[in-house]
Amino acid sequence: MKSDRVPVAIIGGGFSGTILAAQLARRGIASVLIDGSGRMGRGVAYSTTEPAHLLNVRAEGMSAWAGEPDHFARLFEAEGGDPRGFAERRLFGRYLGEILDEAVAGGKTRPMDATACSASRSDGGWQVVLDSGERIDAGALALAVGNQEPEALSAFTGVGDRFIGNPWGTSSHAAVAEIAAAGETALLVGTGLTMVDLVLSLDAAGHSGRIVALSRRGLIPRSHADFEPSPVELSEVPQGSLRVLWRWLRRRSAEVGWRAAIDSLRPHSRHLWQGLDGQQQRQFLRHARPWWDVHRHRIAPEVARLLAQLVADGRLEVIAGRIISARESKDSLEVEYRWRGASKSQLLDVAYAFNCTGPLHSIVRTQDPLLRSLLDGGQVHADQLGIGLEVDDRSRAGEHLWALGPLTKGRYWEIIAVPDIRDQAAEVARDIELELGA
Ligand SMILES: Cc1cc2nc3c(=O)[nH]c(=O)nc-3n(C[C@H](O)[C@H](O)[C@H](O)COP(=O)(O)OP(=O)(O)OC[C@H]3O[C@@H](n4cnc5c(N)ncnc54)[C@H](O)[C@@H]3O)c2cc1C
Repeated sequence: MKSDRVPVAIIGGGFSGTILAAQLARRGIASVLIDGSGRMGRGVAYSTTEPAHLLNVRAEGMSAWAGEPDHFARLFEAEGGDPRGFAERRLFGRYLGEILDEAVAGGKTRPMDATACSASRSDGGWQVVLDSGERIDAGALALAVGNQEPEALSAFTGVGDRFIGNPWGTSSHAAVAEIAAAGETALLVGTGLTMVDLVLSLDAAGHSGRIVALSRRGLIPRSHADFEPSPVELSEVPQGSLRVLWRWLRRRSAEVGWRAAIDSLRPHSRHLWQGLDGQQQRQFLRHARPWWDVHRHRIAPEVARLLAQLVADGRLEVIAGRIISARESKDSLEVEYRWRGASKSQLLDVAYAFNCTGPLHSIVRTQDPLLRSLLDGGQVHADQLGIGLEVDDRSRAGEHLWALGPLTKGRYWEIIAVPDIRDQAAEVARDIELELGA
C-alpha cells in the first residue's frame, strides 16, 4: 500500500525524532514520525517507569527547545523540584510526550506505529518500506534511530536465557524481578550508566543479594557536585594533538578541579574533536574514552551515594577484569573471569548476567535491517571511524537525507545527550526548510 507523499519522514520516535518533528511543526512543515517500539515520544532513555531512574543532567540543562533554556526546568519546578536538581527520567518522558501531543494536535505531525525496514531514493525524495508492507513517500528523510543494541559478548555465545543481551528489553525486567524475589546474584557486564540503571532497578525491586559489576578497567561514573565553573576560550586550549590536549586537561584538572576542567571543554568539544585526525580519534576511543566517559557523563549525587552505600554494605562489587567463559547449568550460570593483571581465573555462580556494555560502536556490524539496507545499497556510508554515519556539517547523510543523535557521533562526538541533540534538531529543521523550499 502506498500513501500520499509527505514532506518529511522521520524514522525513530525517541528524543531526536520527536524534537525534530516538533521543530518542523513550529515551522509549519508536516512530517510522519515512525516508531514501532511502543516508546513513541520517549525513546529508550525516557520510557522507563521507574522512579529510581533519574536524569544525569540537571533539570535546568534539559530543555528540549534550543533557545528556551528553562522550558523543562519550569515543569520540574511546578512539580516541586529544584531546577538544579535531577528529575526522574519518566517526568522527562511525560514532558516529551506533551511536546509530541502538541505537534500532533497542530496537525503537522503524524505518528506511525511501525518499524521501517528499508529506505531508498524515489522520485527526487525517499520511499520508506514499513514492516506492515506499507510504503511512505517523502520529500526528505531523517534518521533518528538512536543507539544500536549492545554488541553480542562472545563469552556468552550459546548461553541460553540466563544471559540478557538487551538490558532494555522485557526479558531484562522479568529477570530483575526474579533475582530480586529470590535474593540471587546478578552479574552486570559493563560498569557505565547502563550498569547504574540495572543496580537501581534491582535495588528498587527489593533485591538484597549480591551484584557483581565487571568491566576491563572497573571504572564507574563519577558523581555530580557543585563546583566553581572555570570557562576557557578555545584559543587557550591546545588543538590538533590528543597527547598535548590530554596533558593540558590533567594540569588544568589539578588547578581548577576535574569537573570544572572537563566542563570548560564542552562548548569547544565539537571543534576539538574535528581538529584531531582519524588516528588520534581512534586513539581517544581506545585509550581515553573509558576515563572520559565516567567523568563527563556524571550521575546524580543521590544515585552516587546509593552506589557507595551498596559497595560499603558488600552488596555491590566492582571488578576490573575480563570474562573468559560462561556455562549454563540447570538453575544458574557459571562464569569464569580474571581480575585485571591476575594470572589465575576465578569462578562465579550467578542467576543472570546482563550485557551492560553500552551501545554497539561499530555501525558496519549493525544488524538493523533499515541501516543495513541503506549501507548495503550505498545510500549512506560509515564515517571514518566506523562508529556512525558519514554526515556533512549540516548533519546531511545524503541528498534530502539527514541523521541525528548517536548516529552522527563520528562527526560531532558529543551528540548523545539532550543539550547537544536539541541544537542539532533545530539546525536540521532549519536546513530541511531551506532544502525543501517549504
Ligand atoms: C538509559 C539512558 C539514560 C540517559 N539519560 C540521559 C540524561 O539524563 N540526560 C541526557 O541529556 N541524556 C541522557 N541520555 C542520552 C540521550 O538522551 C539519549 O541517547 C537520546 O535520548 C537519544 O535519543 P534518540 O532519539 O536519538 O534515540 P532513542 O531514544 O534510542 O530513540 C530511537 C528510537 O528509534 C526507534 N527505531 C530504531 N530503528 C527504527 C526503525 N527501523 N523503525 C522505526 N523506529 C526505529 C527505536 O525503537 C527508538 O524508539 C540517556 C541515554 C540512555 C540510554
